[in-house]
Formats: sequence, structure tokens, C-alpha cells
Amino acid sequence: MSTIVQKFGGTSLGSTERIKLMAKKVILETKKGHDVVVVVSAMGKTTDTLVQLAREISTKPRKREMDMLLSTGEQVSISLLTMALQQEGIEAISFTGRQAGIQTDSVLGNAHIEAIDTSRIKNELAKGKVVVVAGFQGVTSDGDISTLGRGGSDTTATALAAALKAERCDIYTDVQGVYTSDPRFVPRASKIASLSYEDMLSLATMGAGVLHPRAIKHARVHQVPIFIKSSFEKGKGTLVYGQSQENGGTPVIGVTFEENVQRVDVSGFEDGKSLRTALLQKLAAHHIQADIYKQPYECTLTLLLKEQDVQEVLSILNEMKIKRLFSHIEQKSGLSKVSVIGRNIKSHPDIKVEMCKILLKNKIRVKMVGKSSISVTAVVQKSQVHNAAEKLHTGFGLDYVVMEQAVL
Ligand code: ADP
Ligand code: ASP
Ligand code: MG
Repeated sequence: MSTIVQKFGGTSLGSTERIKLMAKKVILETKKGHDVVVVVSAMGKTTDTLVQLAREISTKPRKREMDMLLSTGEQVSISLLTMALQQEGIEAISFTGRQAGIQTDSVLGNAHIEAIDTSRIKNELAKGKVVVVAGFQGVTSDGDISTLGRGGSDTTATALAAALKAERCDIYTDVQGVYTSDPRFVPRASKIASLSYEDMLSLATMGAGVLHPRAIKHARVHQVPIFIKSSFEKGKGTLVYGQSQENGGTPVIGVTFEENVQRVDVSGFEDGKSLRTALLQKLAAHHIQADIYKQPYECTLTLLLKEQDVQEVLSILNEMKIKRLFSHIEQKSGLSKVSVIGRNIKSHPDIKVEMCKILLKNKIRVKMVGKSSISVTAVVQKSQVHNAAEKLHTGFGLDYVVMEQAVL
């Protein structure tokens, strides 16, 4: 019998009514004869509330206790969804990450899944049960609870789908699929019917929060098709699968943004190249992604960081400063990144020029511009980022041409 994995995000489980509604979607798949594994996020904004509680108690909570705290959100969801299924006469069992056999490394707060022992899940499926697994969590080799980074339930779902050789992984969320930009802020964004793992990875890495970037890597290795679809509206959603097809047209596939970015400048060093390498190694060991730019004509390295990573990076930098690898650290907040995403961007210098022209024409001040093989990124004032994304979306010809707007 074929196995499918279904994943429900926080908004889809935001109330007991919604949990009952999602249980119906699970039942529908069991009726089609599938073995079903369900992965759930915490209800609504529970994880944010838990983070806030920790902040009220401690200025620097230890990661072990944070993971202990944050993992409770998903535990509420597994038990309630399992009860909802049982109430409808469906045999179901709930599992925490550890009970589901999800082994991670020990980078608490942002752990990577290393292995999954699926034997317990398979036993329960063989008994005809639906298995409901807590997303976003696993267990380290020391037996501690770990979490996979914000949005990490998607990764639990695709990693389980890969380990179980599932026919597909359905990600249910609050939009109808993947769009050319975030439809919440760019109303003329259009839904993409299907895209390759590679293109999805580019969008997700640069800020399209609809799918956790690591989720794509697990699915790609084992070629599991991912369907991203709405929990509330009918529709085919977006299929993420296979490789990119060269269509010969414009290489731009979307516009992404990250609202809360901080800039940290490091200066007073002698060898910028080896400092950059040392920094990249340290950040990688903590699973932190950062853009690092060398300012032309200045002895400064600029790091662009997600707000949530800033404290950790500052403590790494302070250790390096004590070792006299450089002498100054300067921090700036209130910034955002907006990126034009495409394939082989480096061989299209016109995209960077066009991007700057569009932003300038719309009086959006560009503080920095950077380029990689998948994107051109501009740093702008946070207050201007949504306007910037909208103008770039229009400027690069991505606007929806039909009269209808994206349905949320
Ligand atoms: P869930 O709780 O279901 O995991 P998320 O909030 O993590 O949901 O992800 C869904 C959200 O991703 C949408 O509400 C939307 O605002 C945002 N988003 C950002 N970029 C995109 C994009 N390119 N396409 C679709 N949604 C996007
Ligand atoms: N509950 C976690 C978060 O809010 C994980 C997830 O939703 O995927 O980040
Ligand atoms: Mg999510």
C-alpha cells in the first residue's frame, strides 16, 4: 500500500474547529487506501507566544531549555489531532519526534536531521493506524530534545516522506501554493503551477517562507514530489519536483524579501580573506546562514543576518575579537533585504542594473547590493521593503495579468 505524508501548518490548526477540519482531510486519504503519516506544527502563533514567555523570564535563555519549551507546542497539536481522528472512528496514534525515531545533530535551536528510525511508525501503519508526528523536533545523541529552526515542521514532513519512501508529501498551508512573491504583500503575485527543487530552494533560501529550505533538500535527495496547497480552498496547489527546464525566456522567477535583517560591520583586521573564511566556518558550525560582503576600498566586512541569529553571531564575533582577529564591531537594525531570484543570474548583469533603476525610480534608497548565482539582493529600509518588492515584481514583468487577485 502506498504511503503519503500530510503536513498541516500553524494557521491550519489554529482552533479546535480547524483541527477537526484537518482531521477530515486525513480521513479522506485513508479512505483512498493510503497509509497516512501526518506531521503537525504548533497551533496558530503558539511558538511565538512560547518565545515571548522565555523572554519575560530570561535575557539569555539556554538553548536546551528553549528547545524543551518550544517543542511543547507541537505536542499539543499531535494529541488533539489524534483525538479528533479517534472521535471519527479512525485508529490513530500520536508520536513526539523522539518516538518517531527522528535523530538530529546537537546544534540545539537549529538542528539538522541525521537519521530516522522508521520502525515504530511502520509497525503502527501495519496495524492500520494513522501516525501523527510532532513536527520541528527530534532528539540528539545525548537524549535531549532538539528543534529544527523556525518553520522546521516542513522538514520533518519531507524527511519522513523520504525515509518512508512515500508516494508524495502534501504541505497544507494558508495560501494556495507557491507564488512569484509573497501574496500577502504583493497582491499581483501569481501562483506557480510547478517548479523544480532547485528553483524552490532558491526562493526559499532567499526568504519565501512558504517552505523551509531544508525541507527541499530532503525531498530532492529521494525525489519525493511535494505538493503545497491550501488547507481551506480547493485547488491543485504547486508541485515541487524534478529539474529546471530552460525556457529561453527571462531568467527571473520571483521576488522575495526578508523583513527583519541586521547589519553587522567588522573592521580593523589585516587579512580580510582569512577572516571571512574563519567566520564562514564558525557560522556553518552553528547552522547560521549569513551574507558576507567586503566593502570596496574599506577594510570592513559586512554581515547581513536574520534578526533571530544576531545574538549568537555577536557572541561568536566577540570571541574572535578577544583573539584580536579584528578590532571593531558595529551593528545596525531596521533593515530588510529584497531579492530578485532567477537562474544563472551572474551571467545576466542587466538584472542588477535594472533592479537598481526600478528602485531608484520609485525613490527607494538602496543601501547595499549583492549578487549570487541565484539572486540579486538589495538592502533597503525596513519601512520600504513591501513597496520595493511590489515595484520589482511589476518591473520584472511578473504581475498577474488576469483580473483576479491572489486569494488568501
Ligand atoms: P505554515 O504555518 O502553514 O507553515 P507559513 O506561514 O510558514 O505557514 O508559510 C505560509 C506563508 O508563506 C504565507 O502565508 C505567505 O505569507 C508566505 N510566503 C512568503 N513567500 C511566499 C511565496 N512566494 N508564495 C507563497 N507564500 C509565501
Ligand atoms: N512551530 C514552529 C514554528 O512556528 C515550526 C513550524 O511551524 O514549522 O516555527
Ligand atoms: Mg511554515
